[in-house]
Amino acid sequence: MLSLGSNLGDRAAHLRSALARLGPAIVAVSPVFQTPPWGPVEQDDFLNIIAIASDDDADADDWLLRAQACEQAAGRVREVRWGPRTLDVDIVTVVDGGRPVRSDDPVLTLPHPRAFERAFVLVPWLALDPGASLPGHGSVADLVGHLDPLERDGVRLREDVQL
Ligand code: AMP
Repeated sequence: MLSLGSNLGDRAAHLRSALARLGPAIVAVSPVFQTPPWGPVEQDDFLNIIAIASDDDADADDWLLRAQACEQAAGRVREVRWGPRTLDVDIVTVVDGGRPVRSDDPVLTLPHPRAFERAFVLVPWLALDPGASLPGHGSVADLVGHLDPLERDGVRLREDVQL
């Protein structure tokens, strides 16, 4: 499961081109949500989605490479930590052989170590799959229920944005 976000330039176009690049591996995409930025740097709101991808030929490392290729193609430049980005693609979970992959490797930590507390991951995920669960953390519905209400309500559905 992938989390994609953009808050610089044509945000919907960046998300759209990442989905196109990932191609037939994409099996489901959440609605688009708008999320206030986080941290000390003044910047625009993000557009966020989550996408379910499946490819028998791809392992966890392949997904990271594909995610990074999408970021590069969007011209992502790491100028400011926590700063605006044309495209951010995170690998939230990988299932291999029916089991969730677990990894403490800082290059690819799985499940993503902060997904359980990120409203911009959990709220779109719940919208796409009300029965979803995050390995090691329980049901996504419960995790959304435990979010700070201010943060949860900051993630707003953008029905007008179609990808
Ligand atoms: P960020 O600046 O938030 O996009 O972080 C990117 C860095 O986090 C890269 O160097 C990745 O190797 C590393 N990373 C570790 N775990 C993950 C993950 N689950 N998904 C994406 N990047 C990850």
